Amino acid sequence: MEIQNNFKINKINANPIQNTNKTNKPSETENNPEKVMAGLDSLASINRIAVTPKKEDFALNLSTEELKKRTDKDVLVTTEMLKPGAPEYEKLDAGDKEALKHLVKAGKILENIHLKLDNENNIPFKNFLEDKVSKGDKDAEMTLKLFNAQKGMNAIDTESNMVVLAKGMPEPEGKGFYPQDLGKEEFHNILINMLNNGEKEEVAQILNQRSVVVRNGDKLEALDYTEIYKEDFQAMADELEKAAKTSTNQDFNEYMKLQAQALRVSDPMADALADKKWATLQDTPLEFTITRESYDDTFSTSISENPKLSKMLEDAGIRVYAKDSLGCRVGIVNKESTDDLLKIKKFLPKMAAMMPYNDQYEQNIKPEGDSKQTMVDVDLLMLAGDCGAYRGGVTLAENLPNDDKMSLAIGGGRRNVYHRQIRLGTTPEKVQQKLDAVLDPEQHKYYNQEADHWFTIGHENTHSLGPTQGREKLGKYEAIIEEHKADMGSISFLDMLTKEGMYTPEQREQIIVSYAVDNFLKAKPELTQAHRVRSVMQTQFMIKEGAIEVNDKGKIHVNIDKVVPAAQKMLSEAVRVQLSRDVNEAEKYVNEYFVWDENCEKVAENLKAISKKLNGSIETPLADKLANEE
Ligand SMILES: [Zn+2]
Repeated sequence: MEIQNNFKINKINANPIQNTNKTNKPSETENNPEKVMAGLDSLASINRIAVTPKKEDFALNLSTEELKKRTDKDVLVTTEMLKPGAPEYEKLDAGDKEALKHLVKAGKILENIHLKLDNENNIPFKNFLEDKVSKGDKDAEMTLKLFNAQKGMNAIDTESNMVVLAKGMPEPEGKGFYPQDLGKEEFHNILINMLNNGEKEEVAQILNQRSVVVRNGDKLEALDYTEIYKEDFQAMADELEKAAKTSTNQDFNEYMKLQAQALRVSDPMADALADKKWATLQDTPLEFTITRESYDDTFSTSISENPKLSKMLEDAGIRVYAKDSLGCRVGIVNKESTDDLLKIKKFLPKMAAMMPYNDQYEQNIKPEGDSKQTMVDVDLLMLAGDCGAYRGGVTLAENLPNDDKMSLAIGGGRRNVYHRQIRLGTTPEKVQQKLDAVLDPEQHKYYNQEADHWFTIGHENTHSLGPTQGREKLGKYEAIIEEHKADMGSISFLDMLTKEGMYTPEQREQIIVSYAVDNFLKAKPELTQAHRVRSVMQTQFMIKEGAIEVNDKGKIHVNIDKVVPAAQKMLSEAVRVQLSRDVNEAEKYVNEYFVWDENCEKVAENLKAISKKLNGSIETPLADKLANEE
């Protein structure tokens, strides 16, 4: 699970313009080259009809004026990863420097896999743009800049607008995971037919985390990521094996080899072994992760709303998983700031003991014993693919593997990775501007950017607490509730952590006020925008409990001592909903507090007035240089 920057705006699934203009879509029926695999004889008979536009069928969607606005440096804000000559890089041993070269090459390969999983037209459209740019087309150049920032043709911005870069080509409902012409109702019906036909194994493959679904006559068929992206995965594995030859840390090298193996074979156990090793890495000079997170698949999460299909799957013993989006992180572990992070570790059992209803479930972290959780703060060379896609926000930290992964079942732990360059991206001037716009001047002294990092530490660790089973039954509300739980845990434990000396009383106040302010958003989200919804829910509840007040000028005042008790109430509710395993309970809970009222609107107006930012972009100068070296 991840958390992002930008007033905690996270990954979003928004399809406000679904199913419109379908007839405008450039179309040509042919075998989709992205999905044709050499050497897969068993798949040769599959009827793989896909809609793949020719280059000349694409057209730019945004006007010159809109493109100029959206690529302005104050609107598309750049965050820079490590540069050539960075001291963090220079002080590495030669073997680790050499290994980094191969790691960024692996990351660059993964970037393309992400693009395919996101939308099968991404790469053809990118090629179209690059061709136009080479002929001097300025609009194409600006469109390409946006494409590279959001890493795809379609993405939401900070004000909840869906940005569509190719004319007549809105975001496909099933992303790149499902056939573009497949709707949810047909998806459900095909699965019902296949189950009636006794095709349990095939259905289970379609509903796992790691397959792209294609049509096969009137059925569907799953192609494992390691099969459909075989060439790319093999090339990545080659790079990881090269890195393992020169990196100076034996544990890291062992992980490299296990991860390479997981890319080469179609076997979830290979992933589990790689994940298990990865989660133990604490004292390594380098950081490399293939991130697998499942926020983007609305087809799987729609199944919980179909009682007939849900019952059939349950009877067949098939669990529904949302599909993984893939990302890649390459960095250098910052030892000093990692030591700060580790201070929370000894309190994890106490936090586990404070979780509501904890006699009713087993937690990843037990109230007694070793927490099996590592944590590192990382200076980044690159965030590629899903975890670096700037879509309203970008990943600030991640706690992996998620509970749907097999490594946890074979006794593996979890690892938190924090992204320094993302967190340090904002300037003090920008922070002051924001405070002037939205926070009671008396309380400016409590706002501290570093406190947002402390809040994030609590958030990530809370992901390792609470119920681990049955959360998928909450369908499209699963992610909202889980992220909400992590936020509320972070605040709930503050008094205990302050008493235990982890935070000073002053730091406690800073965390509370900074959290409350950062929860206000620039625009009303859609219910489909899972990760923004929870911020609105919390603000609504905090106002109801008298913990936050907003005056008629849209200025926030935080009643500091009321925040922790309110958070504890919400944490209880969140866990209760998770334990219910009932999508209707989740819906009721979310609807009760997901209310965008005039308080939210007044603060949003103030935030919009001071920030022109609509999206961001990550620049990776050192990684780009290394990727081009032999
Ligand atoms: Zn999270």
